[in-house]
Amino acid sequence: MRTISADYIFPISSAPIKNGIVIIDNDGTILDIEELSINHQPSTINHYNGVVCPGFINTHCHLELSYLKGHLSEKAGMTGFIREIMSKRDGFRREEIIAAIAPAEQEMINEGIVAVGDISNDDFTFEQKGKGNLIYHTFLEVFDFTPHNAEKVVSKGKILRELLQRQASNIKHQTSISPHAPYTLSAPLARLISQASEGNILSIHNQESAAENEFFISKSGPMKELYDKAGINTSHFDATGKNSLHYILENLSDFSKLLLVHNTYTSREDLQYANSKQQTTNNKLFWATCPNANLYIENKLPDYNTFIAENARLTIGTDSYASNHALSILSEIKTISNHFPAIELNTLLTWATINGAEFLGLEKSHGTLEKGKRPGLVHISGLDLNTMRLTEKSKAKKI
Ligand SMILES: [Zn+2]
Repeated sequence: MRTISADYIFPISSAPIKNGIVIIDNDGTILDIEELSINHQPSTINHYNGVVCPGFINTHCHLELSYLKGHLSEKAGMTGFIREIMSKRDGFRREEIIAAIAPAEQEMINEGIVAVGDISNDDFTFEQKGKGNLIYHTFLEVFDFTPHNAEKVVSKGKILRELLQRQASNIKHQTSISPHAPYTLSAPLARLISQASEGNILSIHNQESAAENEFFISKSGPMKELYDKAGINTSHFDATGKNSLHYILENLSDFSKLLLVHNTYTSREDLQYANSKQQTTNNKLFWATCPNANLYIENKLPDYNTFIAENARLTIGTDSYASNHALSILSEIKTISNHFPAIELNTLLTWATINGAEFLGLEKSHGTLEKGKRPGLVHISGLDLNTMRLTEKSKAKKI
């Protein structure tokens, strides 16, 4: 049994507790959470200066791309990024790709991350995932904009899923065959993914660039040029006159929860459309923001105030080392706090914990500090405790 105290405990499920304590069992189960009182003997308490909160949930990562750390140019724009990643990734050997995975996972653990929504296009991460160091939901990503390839790519996803289940057979592993992005999702592929999902959760990159919206509105611009140069036939697709989010929500169905990732160019109208769609379908929509990756690639952030105003369920993702300098949820919320100082710490931590836990179906055990849960604990140091703001010095560490 351990008793942990902090200047502020953030249970997330209720208001922050000044001079709070959390009592945990040897396996991390929370036995009690309360204000510090004279009943607690100081010698039995581990005190942390700053904040203690639940373990972080990283809803969007590509662990298999960890080998690309430092290899891709910053601020090249989405189409520049895609071009560069396609040209560079063939220059690495399998051993090099695999060698980068364990250290990247360890970094997430040290940073207080306890569960990850991870994208896999290949089997590189499966052995590491089988060790059970973190909870993973693996999104086996399938993509091809050419309609007649739909069956082939979904079959490939299913083979990959069997491989993962075999390699990580000792742990319960959640998986979904999932789309990549609207511009790599043909209508037949969306139908097959919907059929395969059987009420499971799905994830898709959404509105990561202005070029993506332009492609859907008018079938023109840098995304169209990229297809033309790569010799990919887009004659089956007609401009929709609407942002790409409409295409996603009109084509995907039969999922229980869908995570829309990035949303850098999502407008208020898009969010209102998404809300109206949720009301008519029972499908829950979640939004993952990866601010450091957005700055790395497009040098632009989503307008969080609009997401808050439209009651969007925001979650936090690190994306991958292809477009980030760290795999740290705290680093992501520091970036948001820098650019949007009016957003309160409790709100940022809600995005970083319970919202992600709810998306991954872990809300009964993770995401808040409540009796009986085993959510993991994170110590955040280096805050300005007068204003309750994160500072440049703020750091997160697993307790
Ligand atoms: Zn991504």
